[in-house]
Amino acid sequence: SSFWKYVEEGPLDANKATTVALKADPNPNKVNLGEGIYKDDTGKCPVLPCIREAEARLAKANADHEYCPISGIPSFCKSASQFAFGADSSLFKENRIATVQTLSGTGALRIGADFVAKFLPKATPVFISDPTWVNHRALFQTAGCEVRTYKWYDKAKNALDIDGCLKDLRNAPLRSVILLHACAHNPTGIDPTMEQWKKISDACLERNHIVFFDNAYQGFASGDPDKDAAGFRHFINQGHQLIVAQSFAKNMGMYGERVGALNIMTGSEQETTAVDSQLKIIIRANYSSPPLFGARLVDMVLSEPALKKQWFVDVKEMADRIALMRSSLVQNLGKAGSKLDWSHITNQIGMFAFSGLGEKQVMKLRSDFSVYMNKDGRMSIAGINSRNVEYLAKAIHEVTR
Ligand code: PLP
Repeated sequence: SSFWKYVEEGPLDANKATTVALKADPNPNKVNLGEGIYKDDTGKCPVLPCIREAEARLAKANADHEYCPISGIPSFCKSASQFAFGADSSLFKENRIATVQTLSGTGALRIGADFVAKFLPKATPVFISDPTWVNHRALFQTAGCEVRTYKWYDKAKNALDIDGCLKDLRNAPLRSVILLHACAHNPTGIDPTMEQWKKISDACLERNHIVFFDNAYQGFASGDPDKDAAGFRHFINQGHQLIVAQSFAKNMGMYGERVGALNIMTGSEQETTAVDSQLKIIIRANYSSPPLFGARLVDMVLSEPALKKQWFVDVKEMADRIALMRSSLVQNLGKAGSKLDWSHITNQIGMFAFSGLGEKQVMKLRSDFSVYMNKDGRMSIAGINSRNVEYLAKAIHEVTR
């Protein structure tokens, strides 16, 4: 008999479960608010003009298909890291960042989790926000870390629970790992103000925590990459020694090409060499080396001025459309007759809105209106467009009246 007879089917994660339910619905007017993928107003996931141009240049360059080095394309690592930390950061002159190319943001988090599990004392807990992106817990647990949570969301106020968050950070054991979202918090869409970032940074410094930023949306949140980086750059100015995971899935629309980077700040050039060598050892035993194609394109966009200029236009266009759909949804809820306060939808930022809808309302939206969002009420704003926003607002009004 088979070796695998005793293997039982495992559960889908929350995001994938929504997609499966949506696919099974034959209604041609169904609304997909599950997936965290940017769609334009026609409902398509566009290839950004800057990437199209980079593809054309790459095709002309007759690039080879040799192996990529274990830690990735050196010029990509440099441009990705400069994009995150700011090209004028003294860290580059001091050679105090170890950067490796990774399989998008997930790969960066996972290599970072493996590094943390291997080099921090065994009992070091990793704190993630409550709630957070569904994969965070699994990534760190699979690497062997103990995962705990700190407060983030105040359900009653539909806002950041800053006091609860600070309290949890201060009560965490000294030198814990604290995972923070750099911007466009997933799933809540609630980012700290600069004042709040300062308080979070101070609390983490007081406790000597190791702060790990998941930077999956730089530029996508506000449309301005430097503005989106301001929170975690403040931590650097305050003397934190950060770990930063980067993804170019959303901000460059490179989802399936798996382009990302992991950056570990060190104390000296010598430490950088050591950390870099250990990251290579982890990568080598996982998948040997990352893919070339997407990283070549992203490197080109980040390092060639004309392409970079085009990209700033492209990423701003995505951020602006998301903001427009937020306000349009709130306007249409008013028009539909809703008397509820929906201002949190426009106050939140990034791909997702934490609608405040409960599971019953979410399920009624599915069964009565073919509107699909995650059970926790997270909706992907990218699934809203000028054709479905009125229908969606009426449906939400019907289940919340
Ligand atoms: N981190 C957060 C907060 C995310 O929302 C996502 C994607 O949804 C990722 C990381 C990882 O995405 P990817 O691996 O596609 O870069």
